Amino acid sequence: MTDSFTSKFPDLGISIFPVMSALAQKHKAINLAQGFPGFPVSEDLIDLVSKYMKEGFNQYSPMVGALCLREALSKKQLKTQNTYFNPETEITITAGATEAVFSSISAFVNEGDEVIVFDPVFDIYPPAVALNKGKIIRIKLSQPNFTYDWAEIATKITTKTKLIIFNSPHNPTGSILSHDDILQLIQLVQNTNILILSDEVYEHMVFDENKHISLASYPILKERTIVVASLGKVFHCTGWRIGYCMAPENMSSEIRKVHQFVTFSANTAIQYAMADFLKNEANYIDLPSFFQHKRDFFIKKLTSSPFEIQPTIGSYFQLANYSNISNLPDVEFAKWLTEVHGVASIPISIFNSDLQDNKMIRFCFAKEESELAEAARRLSLL
Ligand code: GLN
Repeated sequence: MTDSFTSKFPDLGISIFPVMSALAQKHKAINLAQGFPGFPVSEDLIDLVSKYMKEGFNQYSPMVGALCLREALSKKQLKTQNTYFNPETEITITAGATEAVFSSISAFVNEGDEVIVFDPVFDIYPPAVALNKGKIIRIKLSQPNFTYDWAEIATKITTKTKLIIFNSPHNPTGSILSHDDILQLIQLVQNTNILILSDEVYEHMVFDENKHISLASYPILKERTIVVASLGKVFHCTGWRIGYCMAPENMSSEIRKVHQFVTFSANTAIQYAMADFLKNEANYIDLPSFFQHKRDFFIKKLTSSPFEIQPTIGSYFQLANYSNISNLPDVEFAKWLTEVHGVASIPISIFNSDLQDNKMIRFCFAKEESELAEAARRLSLL
């Protein structure tokens, strides 16, 4: 074996998600760790995919995605956010939202550019910035509700700030950007060249009286924002890898230059099937109540458990504080919970640059009620 290369990521291991999924499998634990739906994809959607495969839609799709799907997504954005993106020039289909994030960061971040992210941060952003030799500037969200400290953000903006990455609803905490937050953001970035990457993959999982507000629904932000979204999240098929990004034409054309050499295109038959499936709004419009029902069911079942729980307002993740149960560091606690009590979760410290441990773990509640009930039963025995 040659040792003539140096690792680009000497300190990076395998992401926590496959690690916890493997541990869950090994111990036959209920997997509430990696975020993926535990219920079936619509039979109608599967039939459509099968139909398009049988009809011969099995070769490369257009590099930027099937036009019918881009048109359907343009209509969806107009309907849900009253925002128009030109399907020809401003919407690009990618192999999952992860690819959209990677291609977008790679298109704009140059050596030495500063990129602001918020801790706890979803783990895909910093490595993509690092590969492009950008400098990651981390700002902590303020506890207890993981909100934005705009005065601090203002102090971190410099002439080198190229990009700010937002994720609302937020993974792992479920917090969301409010209208007031967005007004503060506008104050900070107007009259600058700062770009925004807005990861909105949990757009349809917003609860109670809250509402998802896309950053691109504000014209002054739209001209500098890349919105990343995911049909894997909308149609409960994260393994099908269909994401997309929406950005002004001049930005989309740069993203497409990268995308063409990263994956070239996404899965063809699935794109055509999803374009048909999107025609019926009922296939996505009721998602907030569908997921809120699951959140409420799970939390109610955990009422008698020793976990401290503040109901999540967005995403399909619920944080739980376990200080009443154990002093173990969160990574150890999550492993113990999987191995000994048969419920897998994600420790929150791994999303913090300083690995700050607040004795919190994350559960994914996008599961069948029977599975949530059994997980809650096990957790209530602690
Ligand atoms: N988004 C999912 C989560 O947060 C997992 C993504 C992945 O496994 N890379 O759990």
